[in-house]
Amino acid sequence: MADVTNFISGRFVGAAGGGWLDNFEPATGRAYGRLPDSDERDIEAALSAADAASVVWSRTPVAERSRILMRVGDLIERDLESLARAESIDTGKPIGLSRRMDIPRAAENFRFFAGAALHARSEMHRTELPTGDSALNYTLRQPIGVVGLISPWNLPLYLLSWKIAPAIATGNTCVCKPSEVTPMTAHVLASLLVEAGVPPGVVNIVHGLGAKAGAALVSHPGVKAISFTGGTATGSALARVAAPMFKKLSLELGGKNPNLIFEDVDLDEAVPQAVRAAFTNQGQVCLCGSRILVARRLHDEFVSRFIEATERLRIGDPLDEATEFGSLVSAAHLAKVRSYVELAKQEGGRVHAAPMPTLNARCAGGFFHPPVVVSGLAPTCRTQQEEIFGPVVTVTAFDTEDEAVSLANGTAYGLSASVWTRDVSRAHRVAERLQAGTVWVNCWLLRDLRVPFGGVKQSGVGREGGEEALRFFTEAKNVCLRYPAG
Ligand code: NDP
Repeated sequence: MADVTNFISGRFVGAAGGGWLDNFEPATGRAYGRLPDSDERDIEAALSAADAASVVWSRTPVAERSRILMRVGDLIERDLESLARAESIDTGKPIGLSRRMDIPRAAENFRFFAGAALHARSEMHRTELPTGDSALNYTLRQPIGVVGLISPWNLPLYLLSWKIAPAIATGNTCVCKPSEVTPMTAHVLASLLVEAGVPPGVVNIVHGLGAKAGAALVSHPGVKAISFTGGTATGSALARVAAPMFKKLSLELGGKNPNLIFEDVDLDEAVPQAVRAAFTNQGQVCLCGSRILVARRLHDEFVSRFIEATERLRIGDPLDEATEFGSLVSAAHLAKVRSYVELAKQEGGRVHAAPMPTLNARCAGGFFHPPVVVSGLAPTCRTQQEEIFGPVVTVTAFDTEDEAVSLANGTAYGLSASVWTRDVSRAHRVAERLQAGTVWVNCWLLRDLRVPFGGVKQSGVGREGGEEALRFFTEAKNVCLRYPAG
């Protein structure tokens, strides 16, 4: 068994109440370890450790903080192979994806914010503004104190490190609540933090249920800010608790992202990229292009080439090097995806599921679902409006650029969009009109850590990434110094 423990004040401990939850390997459907079933007592202990560490850490020179963060990045890279394996066992994602994307990006998050915080000190930290000739104004950017970091199951280490790195680089201490479905790499990270020299209490990790441990973290008055990535409904519930306490909130929520394919594209390029955008991590990426909008002239050819390409995806054991498409994350999520496929049929869609290969014996009880392509649905139906967060993509034809934009903007979400066209003027025009926090032109998931990241509408509030993250994790304080008279 591979048990996970809480990490509080530099120590690895079980839940105060002594309870445990099972941790499942989704590709096999079997429990392979346990995690603490934490409650408000564990959150209280973690917060008091974070509070105690805050005094020294907030005054630790940024150069020293930065050196420690760099070491964390180096250690993640050193352990890339074992972390990638741990991530794939815990989530069901192909080992190649963990190795290529999740783990290197986690290392990069620490390195990037190590550098960004150092750089920010000279550029942002002190702004001087002469007020007439009588006073000098400057701005201090100071850590907030103890922050709460809540992350989802789809990119566990990648998204947790995306929060921890800027939070502690700017001098905060934190209490993290990873998803109970995928706790493993957060646990491994805790050991690397110790090895890198992160002082006890600066990062605390409490495992357990969102409704119990997560809710205790959100409602605690000692938490000054919360960075949350997860579903829109959870984000909304969390905001209702946190807002009356005036906590600073960053909410990175769900998406139903359009992928616009104009008639001047080269399908040889657009089809494989659309497949990648739809089905990376079995469609369980908040940025997945789950609504394909395609120029009517290309529609039929696009659908048939897209289905062919989907059928070529190698579905299998996530630990098999050749696998391109693994299992879904849990039995509950598999049931949700199945219910949406049924809904798509009831709503009159043409539903094409790729054939499932025979899986090896290890994976016989796993939570696998093949990629599914649905066409012929009205844009307003639930399958086209609601986030499925799984391997189900819809394809809809459009006639004009205006219609494409209107369909793209026609959901409650606004996280990201992709536009495929060779016409540069159109690319700029459409990008400007799309309601989304990120617009990719002729690409998908090309991420640069310097750029702002977040969503509009029900996809979130606030931005992280680059300077935006440094701003979120600090408070600006104006100091106004009056010159002596005469
Ligand atoms: P959830 O909203 O269910 O959970 C996210 C996190 O919140 C988990 O750690 C969860 O714990 C915790 N949580 C649940 N309830 C509460 C509560 N009442 N108070 C505090 N914390 C709570 O999302 P999923 O984990 O299912 O992740 C999938 C969702 O995340 C999708 O909607 C996806 O679009 C979104 N997402 C958004 C991204 C973005 O950048 N915009 C990126 C990645 C995903 P537990 O798991 O233990 O319940």
